[in-house]
Amino acid sequence: MDNLITGSLHNIEHLFGLENFDFLHHDVSKFVHVPGPLDYILHFASPASPIDYLRIPIQTLKVGSLGTHNLLGLAKDKKARILVASTSEVYGDPLVSPQSEQYWGNVNPVGPRGVYDEAKRFQEAITMAYHNFHGLDTRIVRIFNTYGPRMRPNDGRALPSFIGQALRGEDITVFGTGEQTRSFCYISDQVEGIYRLLFSPYTYPMNIGNPEELTILNLAQKIISLTGSSSKIKLEPLPEDDPKRRRPDIDLATTILDWKPKISLEAGLIKSIKYFKDLYAIENTNQNI
Ligand code: UDP
Repeated sequence: MDNLITGSLHNIEHLFGLENFDFLHHDVSKFVHVPGPLDYILHFASPASPIDYLRIPIQTLKVGSLGTHNLLGLAKDKKARILVASTSEVYGDPLVSPQSEQYWGNVNPVGPRGVYDEAKRFQEAITMAYHNFHGLDTRIVRIFNTYGPRMRPNDGRALPSFIGQALRGEDITVFGTGEQTRSFCYISDQVEGIYRLLFSPYTYPMNIGNPEELTILNLAQKIISLTGSSSKIKLEPLPEDDPKRRRPDIDLATTILDWKPKISLEAGLIKSIKYFKDLYAIENTNQNI
C-alpha cells in the first residue's frame, strides 16, 4: 500500500507477476480497509528526505501519527503483528555519540525537521500504548541512514545527490563545512536486521544501522574517487537543525538478533553507483529517441 507521494511504481514492477503480491494505491493517513486475514503489517509509509519534509510537512506529520493510528487499529482488528519504522531522527541533534536506545534525544519540535521527528516520536509512543494497553504484538525499528539501488535520484539526500553530481561532472554540494557525520547502512543489511527484529520477541525500540561513521566531506571525496569524476566540492549553507553527528550503537541488535551489517561502505557505494549509472544511461537513450 502506497500513495506514491515519494515512491515509484517502477521500483516494484518486477513483483506484479507474483501470485502472492498485491498493490493498493492508498494513503494510510486515511481510513484503511484491507479485506481478508493479515498476519503481519510493516509500516514504512513516510517521506524520508529533509527536502520532502519541507515540501509536504502536513502529510509527513499525518502519516506518522494518523497513519500509524489507522494501522495499529487494523492490526488490532486482524490480530496481526505490526512493525513500525521509526528513525534515528528521534535522537534529533544528539548530545551523545554513539546513540543507544537509552538516549532520549535532542529534538527541536518547531524546527523544519520537527514535522518528521515529532511524528516518529508520537508513532513510538502510540505503538507502545497499543502494546501495553491492548496487548498488541508490536515491534519498533529505529532506522539510521540507509542507501542503495532504487533510491530516488533527486530526493535531495546526500548520497544520491552526490552520486548524480559526480556522474554528471557537476559540483558536489556539501552543506556547511562538511564536518557533520553520518553512518550509512546498505539496504540488504537493513532489510536483514528488520526481518530478524520482526521475528524476534523484542518489543522495545531497536536501532538498525551501520556504525561505520564518516564526515559528509569524506563521503563526497569517496564518491568522487569511486566514480573517477572530475567534480569539485562546493560548500553551501548548512540547513537549520542539521544533526552534527550520527552513529548507531548496535549492541542491542547484535545481542538480541545476532545481527551486524556485512556490506562495507565502499562495496555498497560501488553497487549504488552502478545502479545510478545504468539509470542515467537509460534516461539518456530515451531522450535521444
Ligand atoms: N547534505 C549535503 N549536501 C546535499 C545533501 C545533504 O552536504 O546535497 C548533508 C546534509 O546537510 C546532512 C548530510 O549531508 O548533514 C546527510 O543529509 P541527508 O539529507 O542525506 O540525510 P539526513 O541524515 O540529514 O536525514
